[in-house]
This record gives sequence, structure tokens and C-alpha cells, in this order.
Amino acid sequence: MIRLKNGFLVKKGNELELSTIYIEDDKIKFIFPGKHNSLSVEREVDAEGNIIFPGFIDPHVHFDDPGFTVREDFETGTRSAAAGGITTIIDMPCTSIPPVTSGENFDYKLNIVKGKAYVDFAFWGGVTPGQIESGEYKKTLTDLKERGIVGVKFYTVSGMELYPRMPVPYMDKAFRFLKGLNLVCAVHAEDYYLVDFYSNFLRQNGRSDFESWAEGRVYEAEPEAIWSVVGITEKVHNKLHIAHLSTGAGLEVIRWAKKHKLDVTTETCPHYLIFTVADLKILGSILKTSPPVRYEEDIDALWTGLKDGSIDFIATDHAAGKFPEEKSSSNIWDNYAGIPGTQLAVPLMITYGYYKGKVRLEEIQKLMSENAARRYGLYPDKGSIALGADADLTIVNLNEKWFVDPSKLESKGKYSVVAGKEMVGKVSKTILRGKLIYDEKAGITGEKGYGNFIKSNL
Ligand SMILES: [Zn+2]
Repeated sequence: MIRLKNGFLVKKGNELELSTIYIEDDKIKFIFPGKHNSLSVEREVDAEGNIIFPGFIDPHVHFDDPGFTVREDFETGTRSAAAGGITTIIDMPCTSIPPVTSGENFDYKLNIVKGKAYVDFAFWGGVTPGQIESGEYKKTLTDLKERGIVGVKFYTVSGMELYPRMPVPYMDKAFRFLKGLNLVCAVHAEDYYLVDFYSNFLRQNGRSDFESWAEGRVYEAEPEAIWSVVGITEKVHNKLHIAHLSTGAGLEVIRWAKKHKLDVTTETCPHYLIFTVADLKILGSILKTSPPVRYEEDIDALWTGLKDGSIDFIATDHAAGKFPEEKSSSNIWDNYAGIPGTQLAVPLMITYGYYKGKVRLEEIQKLMSENAARRYGLYPDKGSIALGADADLTIVNLNEKWFVDPSKLESKGKYSVVAGKEMVGKVSKTILRGKLIYDEKAGITGEKGYGNFIKSNL
């Protein structure tokens, strides 16, 4: 048995409680308020007066393995998660070759990545327009469901050759079937026709400056696309999730859906909560994402949405471009869209959320762990500090100040939108199923391959 002492748990009402946690066989065995040392243990871990959170979850990452490992692989991606205090990641189906669009493809990928993982992981599944046309999707999605995917990802607009966009009428078919399987339908929501029209218009007119990326991926494309899939959900009553929400107008559609009792959730990413088009003009490709960052009003709206529960959780959409090759052209269209986010999500939320009075620790705990675990069928093993749950615990020193040095990131993508910026709050230890996998002083202490595949219990 292991005793974790001198740590504070965040209780309901945002109160901090000094607690002692005992861990046995990967699980939380006992939790006592205050100091407690009457049980005999083999080992002690000292939280040194810091906060103990349930292991954080990043429910939307692209770790590119197998196929695009020049950008990221499961080893570097999960190391960056461990160093960022994230004990479970959920990997997207589209950024590996082959994409996770069948049981065989799933098995192939799992076989390749499982020996590389430092943190626990779950998978998103996928489906292609071709599978909808042939009718094959019913078998492939059933096979994926049996293997334990958390849901299925759709793109209304896509730059990926192997994972094309899904026309809305096809999504209607897929959503009906996925309702029967009780799986979440997650959508990258930017209207294809608007994005295509404006982006081409700008390019044809010779625009290649940084701002043209945001202008081309026009603001209203997001609420427009959200309306079209919420419209399906209104008829079908499937589980719908809107990925990486970036606009206040999109949030209003989500609010409408929730008000009408539709089973709709959404996430946003730290970069949409911090940066605007004005920053994109300066940072350029380093901040190039899809959807793009928006405006001050959107930042305010998104924080309000996190606070009032309209936005359900934080994800990073971690997608590292090959650096510097894919991230340094002066022509914005030529650069890769994506940023490596998983290692910095926790300090960003503490620095820009907690310390600016936007969210409390209690909310960070829910938004970065519990809510995603519940939505994707990982709860209560993941996302909670409770008796019998997996001993996944992230210890955070709220007061430590430090500067971001991208060269020190574990990700292959050694660039950051907050390069050189001061953060307040640092992950001090990451514990996965009772094992210390990251320590601020020692670095990564976990073992390659210790991370397990976690099946959704949906
Ligand atoms: Zn993504």
C-alpha cells in the first residue's frame, strides 16, 4: 500500500481539505480527511501541501500513430500528456494510417501503439462517406463499438485525404445508427461551402497573410454547421458532441439545444480562451488551427459558457505539425493547421482561468476530468477521486511560477503559442494507477507501455 500525504482535495463548494489517500493495487483504497498515518504502508508520496486533482483527461488529441509519426507518435504524445498532468487521452481516428474505420484497422492501430503509451488511452472511431454509400458502416461501426470506442468523429469540412468530409445527409444516416449503439457522434463543425468559398476567394485574390486564414474560415461557418447537425439530433435524439467550439454564436446554438433537452455537449480548447485574430496576425502559423481563433467577445462568451455549464469540458485538439518545416512558411495556406496542446493545458487553465477569476478549482476539476469521463463512459474508474476508482492523481503546485520553453516539451512539435510566457501553476507529480509517471524534478518516471487501452463502458 502507498500513502499519499500532505495534499489538499478540492471539495464541493470549492473548499480545500487536507487529505490522506491510500492506494492499493492501482486503486484508491481509503481517503481520510486530515493527517493519517496509522495504516502501515510500503511507501509514502508527499504532495508537499499542493492540490490533488483526479488525473486529468484530454478527450481530443491527434497522436498520429501509425502513419504520421513524423509529426507525433504515441510515445512522444503520451509523454507530453504525463508531463502535463494528463493521465488519460482519447485519440482521434483520422490522423493515423489507416484511419480507425473498421475493427481490423482498430486492432492494427492498438497493436502498434499499446507498447508505446505512458498514459492510459481510449480511441475515437471513424466512418467514411464511402462506407455510408455502400452500407458497410453498420458492420464497421458495430465492430468498433464492440472494441470499446468512445464515439465516432465526423468532419463537415476536412483537409484529410484519407478521412474526407461527411455530407450532412450522410450524417443523418450515421447518427440514426449510432443512436442504436449508444455512441457519441462528435462533429468538427465548420460549414464546408462557406469555408471553401471564402478561402478560395482570398487565395485567388493573392492573400497569403496570416489573418487570411481566419477570414477564409469565416466566423459564421461554425454556428451554421452546428445548426445543421443539431437539426439532425433534434429529429434523431442521438448523443451529439461539438468539438473545439470557437465562437460565441456557436455557443448560442448549443445553449438552444440544451434548453430543448437535446443530448448535446461541447468542448473548447485553451487557445480559443486566450487568443484572438489579432494574435494570429503576429504569431502566424504557430497559432494556425482549425477552426481559427476568433475575437475578444468570443473569449468572454466561452469563459462564461464554461462557468455556467453550457460548455462541458476542455480538450486540447493536440495536433503537432512537423517543426519547423510545416510551421514556418510566410504563406499561411502552406502551413500545417494544429498545435501541440496537451502538455500545457493545465497550467494554461490555471494561469488564464483560475488566476484571472474565470473558473474556480472545483470547475477546473470537472472541466478537465470528471465531465469527459462521464460523457465517454470512462467514469467512475477515471475522472473521480473515490474509493475503488483508479488511482489516477495529478498534484499541482498552484503557486509555482515558470516560463514556457518549447524546446523542453515532450511532444515532437517543439513550438508553443505561449513560448517564453510566464505560467503560474505547475504540475508537480502525475500518478497513473498508483504509479508515479511524472515528477517535476525527475521528469518522466513512468515506463513505456504502462499506459493501458481503456474501453468505454457506454
Ligand atoms: Zn481535432
